Amino acid sequence: MALDPALADRIAASVERGFADQVAHIQALVRFGSVRGAEHTIQDHVFRCLRDRGYAMERVRMDHAAIAAHPGGGRIAPDHSDAPIVVGIHRPRHETGRSLILQAHVDVVPPGPLDLWSHPPFDPVIRGDWMYGRGAADMKAGHAANLFALGALTRIGLQPAATVTVQSVVEEESTGNGALMTHLHGYRADAVLIPEPEDEKLVRANTGVLWFTVEVRGTPVHVREMGAGANAIDAAYRVIGALRELEESWNARKAGRRHFEGEAHPINLNVGRIEGGDWASSVPAWCRIACRIAIYPGIGAADAAREIEATVSDFARTDPFLAKTPPVVAFNGFFSEGYELEEGSEAEAVLAAAHKRATGTDLQSFMSPSYLDTRVHALYDRVPALCYGPISENIHGFDERVSLASVKRITTAMALFVAEWCGTEALGR
Ligand SMILES: [Zn+2]
Repeated sequence: MALDPALADRIAASVERGFADQVAHIQALVRFGSVRGAEHTIQDHVFRCLRDRGYAMERVRMDHAAIAAHPGGGRIAPDHSDAPIVVGIHRPRHETGRSLILQAHVDVVPPGPLDLWSHPPFDPVIRGDWMYGRGAADMKAGHAANLFALGALTRIGLQPAATVTVQSVVEEESTGNGALMTHLHGYRADAVLIPEPEDEKLVRANTGVLWFTVEVRGTPVHVREMGAGANAIDAAYRVIGALRELEESWNARKAGRRHFEGEAHPINLNVGRIEGGDWASSVPAWCRIACRIAIYPGIGAADAAREIEATVSDFARTDPFLAKTPPVVAFNGFFSEGYELEEGSEAEAVLAAAHKRATGTDLQSFMSPSYLDTRVHALYDRVPALCYGPISENIHGFDERVSLASVKRITTAMALFVAEWCGTEALGR
């Protein structure tokens, strides 16, 4: 890495000096409790934070028609967020370096039953090195790291010598349409960094994800005549069995797939939600399950969707009840392909050197079997899309937490990355 060692030391010291403020900033973000559809106030807060630091501000609305027309557009269900994307742009005096997009999402998954949390999920308590809270790790810590990595340069009188676009998106946990919207709006850069909680590693490969529901309808009767009525909940269980067989056949197709064949079970089907029936003594007339399944990079979402539909309809034909009332499959969220990060890019080399300097260890990469917004930039911008962020535990679970020592290390690595990738110039316009 060409970065001057004295400058690197000044940057690291600057991250250290700003870290108490950074921790308070993460806590403020967690307190917003920004579940899907409720991200308006946090986005206003982010807007003010960026504007007050001198960024040129833009708000971008979701263009439903443009999203629907794109092959990677997530399906727009009624609970789709209408919160805007917030973007802050730094423009240098002399554009001599390479441009960069720093992106993070503000939406968080629902906290689930509160009694399973040790602390209220939106009260970001710190115990030892861990900050607890829904979204603390995924990804308010990374969201703050974008701002504070840049702030570390400001504090020592420097700014990136290239355009840096800071993007705060929504819909990462359900469709990926926030990140897609930044692409559709036309933002581009020479590289993209998204600091998701990846245990200080770089994501090398990532699965695509589809969301779908299956709805079964039956004939309601009193339980004493149960033999005459079809139980929609029982029937939904049989459909789940057929979907589990599809999951196993997809896992069997890992052979020959470089980043996947070493994994025990790279493709996971999650039946994440079930609802149905109306009364304990009535045979349920309806049941709906909500599912999420992963797909390998290189598999089109539409092809995977056709296979899911065929699995359900083929199974239904073999089932006496379902043959008469075929289940209905609907796609209602993620409709995304996976990606592989090409090895050997200059951006990766710069991040690896920055990581080494900040942590003393070599940068490792791995396969992440879950949806990531980096896919938008890898697949459609076709630029190096780096997903790299802090150590965490229990994301999407109870007592989600992020390591603050790790947040400091990755913020340092990010600040060093920005300084080297974009170059630096004296602060000012
Ligand atoms: Zn995330």
